[in-house]
Amino acid sequence: MSIFSGMNTIPLLRLPRVYRAKQLIKVPVPDMIYLPLEPHFEAYDIEVKMGEYVVIGSRLAHEKKTGMPVYATVSGFVRGIEPRLYSNGHKIDHLCIENDHMDAIKSVLPIGDPDHLLSNELVEAMRILGLRGMGGEGYPTYLKYKDEPDVDTLIINGVECEPYLRSNSYLMYTHIKALFEGVRYMMKAAGIENAFIAVKETARELIDLMREEAKNYKNIVPVDIKDSYPMGWERNLIDTILNRHYDRYPSECGVIVNNAETVIAFAEGLRTGILPFNRIITVGGDGLKQTALCEVRVGTSVYELLEAVGGLADKKGKAYLLAGGPMRGIPMDSPDFVVTDHLTGVTSMIDKSKKPAPCIHCGDCTLQCPMNLQPVKIMDCVKKERIQLLEKLEVDRCMHCGLCSYVCPSHIDVLYYIHQAQTLIEGEDDNAAD
Ligand code: SF4
Ligand code: SF4
Repeated sequence: MSIFSGMNTIPLLRLPRVYRAKQLIKVPVPDMIYLPLEPHFEAYDIEVKMGEYVVIGSRLAHEKKTGMPVYATVSGFVRGIEPRLYSNGHKIDHLCIENDHMDAIKSVLPIGDPDHLLSNELVEAMRILGLRGMGGEGYPTYLKYKDEPDVDTLIINGVECEPYLRSNSYLMYTHIKALFEGVRYMMKAAGIENAFIAVKETARELIDLMREEAKNYKNIVPVDIKDSYPMGWERNLIDTILNRHYDRYPSECGVIVNNAETVIAFAEGLRTGILPFNRIITVGGDGLKQTALCEVRVGTSVYELLEAVGGLADKKGKAYLLAGGPMRGIPMDSPDFVVTDHLTGVTSMIDKSKKPAPCIHCGDCTLQCPMNLQPVKIMDCVKKERIQLLEKLEVDRCMHCGLCSYVCPSHIDVLYYIHQAQTLIEGEDDNAAD
C-alpha cells in the first residue's frame, strides 16, 4: 500500500539507513546513574532510603497520581536526590544510584505466556512495567488504553521524519518479531481489530521485511509514508492513513497511536518481565565527529555519549546541543542531562544561521504551517504586544515543528516569536486568574 499526501510537508536532508548491528556503539555503563522524577502529572513518593542496596528492577519511586513506577537501571546503592538538568531544558529532581557493576537484576512482572493475559491485564502490565511513549513525550502508555472503548484502529508510528534520527528503523529491523507480537498484544489490550505500521517509503529493506512478517498476522498492515517532514506527526499519520481528523486526542476519531519502540519494549517486557534498561539512541549532527547509533544504559549522562562518538567535530563555527532531533529538539545549555527511556536522540549542529533580514511578507511560513496557523501574523502581534488578537490566532495549537523558521527566506527565527506569543498568553491567563 503506497500512500502519498498533499499536506504541508517538506523533504529534508536524507541520510543512509543504519540497520546493521556492527554500526552500534556500546557506551560503557558509568559509575553513577541519574534517574529523573519526570514531571508529567504530580509529585512522586520515594520508596527507598539513602544508602539502600537496589538491583535492576527495584522500584525506587512512583508518581502519586498515575502510580507510574521508576525502576533502578543498575545494581548498587541509592546515593541521594539531586536537582539536575532534564531534557526539557529545566532542572528537576533525579535519583542518584552508585553502580556496583554487578548488574544484579529482578523482574517486575511475573513471567508467563502473555497470550493468557486478558485485555485489562495487558493494560495493567503496561502500568506495572512503567511503559511510556518512547517517541519523545514519555506519556504513560496505559493511560491511552484505559477506558477507551470507542477506538477501532491502532497506528504504529515508525516514521522518523527528522534528519539524523534512526533508532526506530534500527529497532524495527532488528526486532521484527517483537514488533509484530507487541502490536498483537496492544490490539488485544484495546479490543482493536485493525492495525497499521507506518514507515518511510525510503526504508525499502525494512518495508520488505515487514511485508514478509505481516503474512503471519491477521489485520496488521505495513504502510509506506512519504519521506518528508513532519509526516511522523500523529495528526498527519491519521489523516494520511485513515482520512480522519480530531481536535485534541486521536481517540476522538477512534485511533490509538504508539511509537514502534514502545511496542517493541512492551513485547520484550512481557517476555522477560522487565522493560529494556538500555536505550538505543541516535547521536548525530554536523557538530560531532560522527553520527552513530549508541546502546546506552538509561540514566547515563550525555557527556558519556558524546565521548563515545568521538566528541565535537573540528569545524569552524559554534556548535549547539539539542535533546532530540534538529527540527524539534530542545536546546540544552550543557550535556549535563541524562538519557531517559524516551529521549529520541542527541543532536549537535554547527550554528550556520544568517543574520535575519526584515520580513518581506512572502507568506511562505503560513503556507507551510501544518497546523494552518498564521506565523507571520503571530510574529507581528508579538512585536506590537496585541495579546487579544494573539488569543484569536490559536497559538496553543502550534506543534513546534519549526517549519516556519526553516522556510523563511529572511532567516527569521519565526518559532521564537511563537514561543514568545505562548508566554504572553500564559501571562495574560495568570493575571486573569489572580
Ligand atoms: S516566511 Fe519569513 S519573510 Fe515570509 S512572511 Fe514569513 S516571516 Fe515574513
Ligand atoms: S512551528 Fe508552529 S507555527 Fe511554525 S510551522 Fe510549525 S506548527 Fe506552524
